Amino acid sequence: MIRLYSYMFYLNITVYIVTFYFMYLLMSNYKASSGIHFKKQLRDTNQIPVSKLRSSTPLQNEVERDLKERKSNEFWVQNNIKGYSKIRSNDSSTDDLMYSMPVLKERDLNGPGEMGKAVIIDEKNLTTEQKILWKAGWDKNAFNQYVSDMISIERSLPDYRWPECKNITYENLPQVSVVIPFVNESWSTLLRTVHSVLNRSPPHLLKEVVLCDDASSMEHLGKPLDDYVALFEKVSVQRLKNRGGLINARILGFNHSTAPVVIFLDSHCEVTTGWLEPLLDRIKNDDKTIVTAVMDIINAEDFHVQTYNIEQTIPVGDLEWTMFFKWKQVPVGKPRIKPVKSATLIGCFIGVSRTFFKYIGMFDPGFFIWGGENLELSFKAWMCGGCVETVPCSHVGHVYKSRLPYAWNGQQEGSVIERNLLRLAEVWLDDYKEFFYQIVGPERVSEINAGNFSDRVALRQNLGCKNFSWYLQQAIPDVFLPSECHGWGPIKNQLYPDVCIDQNDNESNLKGSIIRGARCGKMMYQQQWYHCHNQTIRRKRACWVPTDKNTSIAFDFCNVEKQDFQWEYRNDNTIYSVYVQKCVEMQPDQKTIKLARCSDTTNQKWTWKRGPPPGPLPDWKKKHQLSN
Ligand code: UDP
Ligand code: MN
Repeated sequence: MIRLYSYMFYLNITVYIVTFYFMYLLMSNYKASSGIHFKKQLRDTNQIPVSKLRSSTPLQNEVERDLKERKSNEFWVQNNIKGYSKIRSNDSSTDDLMYSMPVLKERDLNGPGEMGKAVIIDEKNLTTEQKILWKAGWDKNAFNQYVSDMISIERSLPDYRWPECKNITYENLPQVSVVIPFVNESWSTLLRTVHSVLNRSPPHLLKEVVLCDDASSMEHLGKPLDDYVALFEKVSVQRLKNRGGLINARILGFNHSTAPVVIFLDSHCEVTTGWLEPLLDRIKNDDKTIVTAVMDIINAEDFHVQTYNIEQTIPVGDLEWTMFFKWKQVPVGKPRIKPVKSATLIGCFIGVSRTFFKYIGMFDPGFFIWGGENLELSFKAWMCGGCVETVPCSHVGHVYKSRLPYAWNGQQEGSVIERNLLRLAEVWLDDYKEFFYQIVGPERVSEINAGNFSDRVALRQNLGCKNFSWYLQQAIPDVFLPSECHGWGPIKNQLYPDVCIDQNDNESNLKGSIIRGARCGKMMYQQQWYHCHNQTIRRKRACWVPTDKNTSIAFDFCNVEKQDFQWEYRNDNTIYSVYVQKCVEMQPDQKTIKLARCSDTTNQKWTWKRGPPPGPLPDWKKKHQLSN
């Protein structure tokens, strides 16, 4: 499961806001809404009985269909898969056309989802049986499996790259092993991932594809998968005996792979033309650089592929004190094909040299299930001698799920993620962990058992890694530090002391939601407010602003220049909008918050901590303090 402003933001706020909002619309990334104190909705409790669903090995027909398609597809012959025979491992074909795209003329480009198009289905027109499948697909995967199953596992996709990316020639690139962990992945998404890699990677560069089964229970991922991958010399399946989580599944795959570069890829991705070479080139030039691609969005509902408009800006990974992953748009490099530094990595795509990955201690094997490992790797990379970059000439699509469909020994994910993040904070964040703990809440922190991480602390010491302050200064010099603020914490109403001001919306929906009252501590991180420069009241990058009619308070991207973003927390404990000259007032329903003419009533009085919150404010930040 994320961004502080690039310096360009200050120069061109309009472009930033538009692109930032666009990113949010595109990526409404559930990670932002998972994690600390925010248990993701587990599956619908009214699940359909399994007996009513299509059998969990629905795939005999599909396997046959896929094999038939493969046999009839001339492209496969060109790509050294002669009928059912194995890929020639000694192949050294470098002819671009051979591997870069399925032969388009061989395909029915009007087929479902071809060329990355949407599959639009009106659910109303489905039969009862189909509706059951439709719902089951969503329940199992948190994406629309029904639609995915309709799309060829070798569908065509457009070439999303800039023209200048297409003209680069690369020489003497290292080979790659692609490691794909999966747990209960649908057949169509998993196989589409594998085939996109086989189809669109130069055979001489792709050493192997290692699928790592994290003890899946779905039947199609057992023997049917073994039988299927047996057709491809380069593809193998490794299996964990017990559920180990994605980190351990990846480590298993890593240990069974051999190429000098390893790419960790999610099991519901589609790589696109030319994806591999620029990544390998970067690692060839500096094997301490961890790379990621431009992660296009495979829409979870209709599976259309949406690419970013990266003409001006490019998405890179940001850091927020919630420790959720977030995107940030930064200006493209010069020339624009140049890789751009990224503070953090998104989890679904990580390319790293084998030597460097081992050197920095791989992933923390004490992380369970999902979450935080991408940040751990990013911090380590930066702090221990390397860095992270987004490579603009490499485009890879990923299905962003609508929620996390996992459980861990009956626990909800929230606590697993919290545990991972606590390990992360303890080992890597130095004093800055304070900002994370302010959001989690001290009571909660003391409840979480992060296990023993002394070996990770020793690793950091042995490698002589730099400190977290250095990382922030290098990777995100404009990072928002709560220590720059002069008020913080939950805001409690004095008439209704159990009621706090709440963001009242999904975490990813930073714009437009109306601030309301909620029981204090319900979701603590949604009630953590900072009173900062120019009198803004903010969480992360979004700030309070009066609504159009000046009656309520909305949440919007901070604009410190504008007067309507300014609020005073006055000595009489009222919160006063400088712009509309009204006070914040809690209504008797204890939910609605209004802007009202200031009076001396207790429902306009608020308890809020004054002064900066504890936590470091480094010298470099004081010197270069930007008004945010
Ligand atoms: N995964 C796994 N074991 C787990 C959880 C996830 O092997 O316990 C795999 C999953 O199948 C996927 C990858 O790890 O290939 C990342 O998980 P997911 O796609 O759910 O995370 P997201 O991309 O939504 O962050
Ligand atoms: Mn994923």
